[in-house]
Amino acid sequence: MTLLRRHLCAATLAAFLCAAGFSFAAPPVAAAAPGISDIRAWTNEIYTRVAIDTGDEVSWQANTLRADPLLGLPPRIFIDIRGAGIRDEILRKPVEVRNGLLRQVRAGRFDRDTVRVVIDLERESTYRVFALPGPFRIIVDIDGEGEIPALPTTPDAVDTPGSVAAAPSSEDPAALPPAVAPSVPPSAPSGGSAVPVRKHRVRVMIDPGHGGKDPGAVGPTGLREKDVVLAIGRRIREKLERSGEFDVRMTRDDDVFIPLEERTAMANKGRADIFVSLHINASPNRRAEGFSTYVLSRGASNREDLELAARENGVPVRKLQGVKFIIDDMFTGARKNESLRLAKTVNDAVVRHVSTRYPGAQSLGLKQAPFYVLVGARMTAVLVEASFISNAREESRLRDPSCLDGIADGVVEAVRYYGQNGILAHSDY
Ligand SMILES: [Zn+2]
Repeated sequence: MTLLRRHLCAATLAAFLCAAGFSFAAPPVAAAAPGISDIRAWTNEIYTRVAIDTGDEVSWQANTLRADPLLGLPPRIFIDIRGAGIRDEILRKPVEVRNGLLRQVRAGRFDRDTVRVVIDLERESTYRVFALPGPFRIIVDIDGEGEIPALPTTPDAVDTPGSVAAAPSSEDPAALPPAVAPSVPPSAPSGGSAVPVRKHRVRVMIDPGHGGKDPGAVGPTGLREKDVVLAIGRRIREKLERSGEFDVRMTRDDDVFIPLEERTAMANKGRADIFVSLHINASPNRRAEGFSTYVLSRGASNREDLELAARENGVPVRKLQGVKFIIDDMFTGARKNESLRLAKTVNDAVVRHVSTRYPGAQSLGLKQAPFYVLVGARMTAVLVEASFISNAREESRLRDPSCLDGIADGVVEAVRYYGQNGILAHSDY
């Protein structure tokens, strides 16, 4: 275990937050050495995601320390980033949060070559640290309800050197055992068998993919995925809200760019019960057609699905190997089964509704692939690929408002069915 050495306490520390998430919104760092250009976070009293942006791949190591009442120190998660710089603006902005889970996030120069980001917790919690490439960012998920196993992180999974293997230092007498212990599991049933007594309407987070600088896939006549999925998302929201049964939110309701990890964080922070990410497929094979709905998995069943996930993740195919370990540990069986069930229901309903307007709409069925936007989602989560924008006939169909309505009607029908059948017991906050 890497120890928090004494001089860290005297280091210049910075923290930063606001109620809705915090960001340094720093301008790009100079090209020379990789550096922390931004630290972002999304938090509520049971969940926090922190994203540390470095742009280029860096060597990092994560570890934890238990609270030290004698020194007045809370439980801490810290990430050491080697060979990286950090902007002075980030160092100088301490902000305390104290929301019951997270006390503050701070950063300092641990030594000449190491920047340390420290997350001060209000209480011991389970956590997970992993990195995503393209651009490189280190993600820390903290779960105040104990769903995420408190396991050491293996950065190798993203081809990153470094390890958090425990190695107590003999030079520091204050050596502490590896912390953060799993917290007490929530008392609510975690399976899907019990009938829930809901304290709120079912919350649905609709996630229109892409946006802003990222157009997504573009069709033969220029139709852009980002515009189509936003139009579908708005229709889904309107239809779900009309029923009065749902509290519907959207990760974006405008043509703006939102990083993938932020979309997941928005759903978690907002305590959504259901997360539906909306996309339109594309293929070099212009004849490829049909609708498919995905759940998160470690790998893909075929080359096409792997290439699709890579494209949606904005990374080369070879980088996808990196998410394997994350999914193994974070994606529990119960939640995956519910996601599989919802995905099948969504796909069947979408195809059925579109078929009433366009006979012959093809179903490619329920599928699985490693989509970053689904990694770390705490709720039932699916990703819809609503036909192929690369197919001239399907692109033309996607210009027809009645087709978009059909897709939306299918998602709405599936979500209503899912929400009304007692499947959401696990997410009763
Ligand atoms: Zn997409």
